[in-house]
Amino acid sequence: MAPEGSEDFPRTAPSSDPAGAASRVKVLFPLPLFKAYDYLLPPGVAAPVGAFVKAPFGPREVFGVVWRGAADDGVSAAKLKTICEVMATSPLSADLIDFIDWTAGYTMFPAGSVLRMVMRSGDGLVAPARQAGYVLGPPPDPPIRMTPQRHAVMDAVGVEPKPVAALAAAAGVSGAVVRGLSNIGALARVEIDPDPPFVEPDLTRPGHDLSDDQLFAAEQIRRHINNDQNATTLIDGVTGSGKTEVYLEAVAAALARDPAAQVLILIPEIALTLPFLKRVTKRFGAEPAPWHSELTSAARRRTWRRVADGSARLVVGARSALFLPFQKLKLIIVDEEHDGAYKQGDGVIYHARDLAVARGARAGFPVVLASATPSLETVVNVDEGRYDAVGLAARFAGAVMPNIALVDMRATAAGPGCWLSPPLVAAVNEQLSVGEQSLLFLNRRGYAPLTLCRRCGHKMTAPNSDTMLVEHRFENRLVCHHTGFSMPKPKACPACNAVDGLAPCGPGVERVAEEARERWPDATIAILSSDTAGARAVREILDAMHDGDIDILIATQVVAKGHHFPNLTFVGVVDADLGLSGGDLRAAERTYQLLSQVTGRAGREAKPGRALLQTYQTKAPVLAALVSGERDGFLAAEATSRRDLGFPPYGRLAAIILRGPDERALQACAQAHRAAIPPADGIEVWGPAPAPIYRLRGEARIRFLVKARRNIDIQRFIKAWTGGVKIKAAIRRVIDIDPYSFL
Ligand code: ADP
Repeated sequence: MAPEGSEDFPRTAPSSDPAGAASRVKVLFPLPLFKAYDYLLPPGVAAPVGAFVKAPFGPREVFGVVWRGAADDGVSAAKLKTICEVMATSPLSADLIDFIDWTAGYTMFPAGSVLRMVMRSGDGLVAPARQAGYVLGPPPDPPIRMTPQRHAVMDAVGVEPKPVAALAAAAGVSGAVVRGLSNIGALARVEIDPDPPFVEPDLTRPGHDLSDDQLFAAEQIRRHINNDQNATTLIDGVTGSGKTEVYLEAVAAALARDPAAQVLILIPEIALTLPFLKRVTKRFGAEPAPWHSELTSAARRRTWRRVADGSARLVVGARSALFLPFQKLKLIIVDEEHDGAYKQGDGVIYHARDLAVARGARAGFPVVLASATPSLETVVNVDEGRYDAVGLAARFAGAVMPNIALVDMRATAAGPGCWLSPPLVAAVNEQLSVGEQSLLFLNRRGYAPLTLCRRCGHKMTAPNSDTMLVEHRFENRLVCHHTGFSMPKPKACPACNAVDGLAPCGPGVERVAEEARERWPDATIAILSSDTAGARAVREILDAMHDGDIDILIATQVVAKGHHFPNLTFVGVVDADLGLSGGDLRAAERTYQLLSQVTGRAGREAKPGRALLQTYQTKAPVLAALVSGERDGFLAAEATSRRDLGFPPYGRLAAIILRGPDERALQACAQAHRAAIPPADGIEVWGPAPAPIYRLRGEARIRFLVKARRNIDIQRFIKAWTGGVKIKAAIRRVIDIDPYSFL
């Protein structure tokens, strides 16, 4: 990424000029708008840059933010509208405003759309009504008559005030009993803030005694923190090597250095938040502020408001936490930096790791990336000296890496209608006989990825889409994983009407589980995938696995990350070739990351682990690298091939996707784009080409791919190109800078 020069701007807009004329400010709204609009401030009212305001916009009054830049004095004041209200919420910090503008420029989305991500917890701007809470009152005089219910309430009252409902529930009585006690003065009524501040992290609590490797790594990062120096550091170490302990030291150092500093830890997976939050809470004696999509709206509002007022000092969140209204962000940790979940594909398209690095670079604070399988982008940045790296070589406390071997499926295939080869079955048998756990990994949800009519060859697809319907046998439904469409599995083929001819092709986790249940009827078997309903059910399975109550877990990548199962010593990968097809430039890299994470679940404690990978491609370099553990050699070979092709990180890519319901109009639009491509050195444009999934939700999709040399301003080229091409209202043009998906 090439950060543009940062520009200084005045933090305070003047209120009124001496003549008493109202002064002007620019206001950006959280709407898909590229620019801020001029407004008048009411006489005598001041609003610094970054202040949240309410202003008339069209027929409504809308929240917006006073933006930097001078308002246009040439427009007569009579034409401008006046701001209605300046909100009490602390103004956005200068570095966040800078980051919003930079992100808009980089991703080519409107600044208003980026601001929308910051303001998405819109109710955070209005202080919620205070609630009544109850604590013990002074001893009543004369003493009151006590009943068992009243005793129960008095026993349940604590130091912290509780609302009626909570107190009544804790005492097992009705709300009337609580209110009655308050009326006679036995309970005192106090106001409570529905968004209580987060407890400050206790920085005097010691962490673990670090190993020499860990100490060295922590010291490197601490140096950047204490010098207020922007530097990006990769902590590179196998799973279980103690990376988290190292970066928690960095968090403590950043928080200790400045009493107002805020720190953000980004993690990729919501399923991981709960155990991770617990770990951080234990380390600092205080719960960090959480941020992810499964929070209730009240919990979101609390985090948003407490981040905005600067009192939430440590935030743990998913990628969108990057857009919280931090007052004084001083450190970002990106855990599992290689993870694909950091790429946001809807709305504003961005990669949270890259934006985190850019944000640190612009605001001048350190960023830490942690991974056992760093992305090639990051590895090249380290090799070329842009990032620092610290390595943790071994698993903490001497646990060893699993032994990995391939099963050649051409030589030793599974039986007909089966997916588990004899060596894999033998391995699970052995596990069962010694009472140790197995994980069978297949990165495919449902029962079968394809449903085909045996009579006419018809493939079941989602309506108005070219996406395959996946059979989910437990629910007896066919489901599209791209659009969310689902239908009961029909008896007859919709194309030829043949009855009972629809056949499942290939395995998903449900089908492997069916085979496992037949083979091992006495074993406890569970399935885990993103179809497992609800965070609670997922947690229950993970806990049962952790406690050794499951013999065989059959799972998709939901299980790959972060989990620690002490008694899991064997991982069987049902289809190691799955991610290798499809022509995605990162296919091999992703396969390496995923399979090394999955196999890394085995043998995390004293007992050594092993893994078997079923494959038809025994010669694939990525599988050879997994077996030999030669990650760096594999990455070097990947790097060479990317460099030869001019692909990222040695070149830049951007995708332009046109989509719309009318194919003829879309084709014409694509041709108009083709004709408008300006000549440019070092840039190639491929396309227009139908997207691999051509029809999705009733819209056809056509793609262009722009490939540029690394030093070229690809955004400028795309602006010059697409700026002049008019598109009809029914057609949408989406720009994806640094695309990760090519479907
Ligand atoms: P990673 O983040 O690299 O996967 P963790 O930091 O989670 O590794 O460490 C793996 C396990 O080892 C955890 O249970 C952690 O608490 C423990 N651990 C790591 N470092 C230490 C240490 N210095 N002293 C004691 N336990 C440690």
